[in-house]
Amino acid sequence: MTELLRLEEVQVVFERGWIRKRKGARAVSGVSMVIREGEIFALVGESGCGKTTLGRIALGLLRPTSGRVLYRGKDIWSADGKGLRPTGQMVHQDSYSALNPARTVYQTLAAPLRRYGVPRSKLKEEAEKLLEFVGIMPPKYFLNKYPYHLSGGMRQRLVFARSIIPKPRFIVTDEPVSMIDASLRLSILDLMLKLNCEFKIAFLYITHDLATARYLAQEGKIAVMYLGKIVEEGRMKEVLERPLHPYLRALLSAAPVPDPEIARKKKLLQLKEAEPPSAEAPPSGCGFHPRCPYAEGVCSREEPPLRDFGEGHRGACHLIEVLPPWRLM
Ligand code: SF4
Repeated sequence: MTELLRLEEVQVVFERGWIRKRKGARAVSGVSMVIREGEIFALVGESGCGKTTLGRIALGLLRPTSGRVLYRGKDIWSADGKGLRPTGQMVHQDSYSALNPARTVYQTLAAPLRRYGVPRSKLKEEAEKLLEFVGIMPPKYFLNKYPYHLSGGMRQRLVFARSIIPKPRFIVTDEPVSMIDASLRLSILDLMLKLNCEFKIAFLYITHDLATARYLAQEGKIAVMYLGKIVEEGRMKEVLERPLHPYLRALLSAAPVPDPEIARKKKLLQLKEAEPPSAEAPPSGCGFHPRCPYAEGVCSREEPPLRDFGEGHRGACHLIEVLPPWRLM
C-alpha cells in the first residue's frame, strides 16, 4: 500500500503563562508513524495521553513544536505543502456539538455539496443519496428534521455523510462511538468499514476502548500511546496476541470479556499506582515506571527506545526479553 501520511519525530509542547514563563506540558513527544492509503490505524490510550493532539497534528490542524508531517510525501508545513492542509476530515465524539442545531439535515448537507460543485438542481437528490448510503432511512422523511430530532447514532451517521462530501482520502475519528448506545456502536463501526472498503478511505481511529479498536482495525494496525509517546505498535492481530509492553498487558488484562468463565479465571495485572503522572512533570526514564509492576532500577534512569521485535511489531520497554510470557489467564 502506498504511503499516505508520515509523522517524523513529532513533538508538541503547550507553553503555560504569558508573563512568567513556566515549563510547558509535553503533550506529544518524539512520535513517528506511517499511515498508508486505505489503512485503518487505531490509536489507543487513556485520557490525556496526547492521542487527540496527535490526531489534530495528523490533519494539519495543529502545528507541531518540532518534527515533520508529510502528506503524500510533502511536508504540509512547508511553503509548497500549505495547500495540503487539512489533510482530511475529522469526526468528533460529540455529534451534537459537531452539527449546527439551527440547520436541518438537508441544509447541513446542501452547504458543503454546493461548495464542492453540486448544482442547485441536484442538491436534494445528492443529499438523499448520502443519507441512504450512511443508513438514515427513509431519506425523504429526515431531510427536514433538525439534529435534536435524531438519535445519537443517526447524528453520527449524518456527520459521516457530511465528512465524505469532499471525497477525503483520510478521516480522523476521535472516540466516535463512545457517546452512542452500546447496541448501536457496531453499526457505526460497520459504517466506517463500508467507507474504508468502498472509497478506500484511511482512518486514524482514536479510542481508549481496545474492543472497538480490535473490531475496526482487525486487518490494520494499532499504536498504544502513553504520556505522549508510542509505547507499542504493529499489526493488530500480532500486537494483541503477543503484547510486549506492560502497559498494554495491563489494559488487556483489565478489558471486560463476555464469557463469565474466562472473566473469573482472568488474572488482573495490578499497577503500582492507578493515576497516570502529569504531562507537565513526567517521570524520569520510562514514563510508566511509577505504575509498572516489573520496574527495575534502569527504568527510572533511562528512557527505553522503541525497538523492533519483527515484522514492524515495536515496543518501548527495557525488559521485554525477560518479562514473563503473556497469558490472559
Ligand atoms: Fe516497566 Fe521498565 Fe518496561 Fe518501563 S521499561 S514498561 S518501567 S519494565
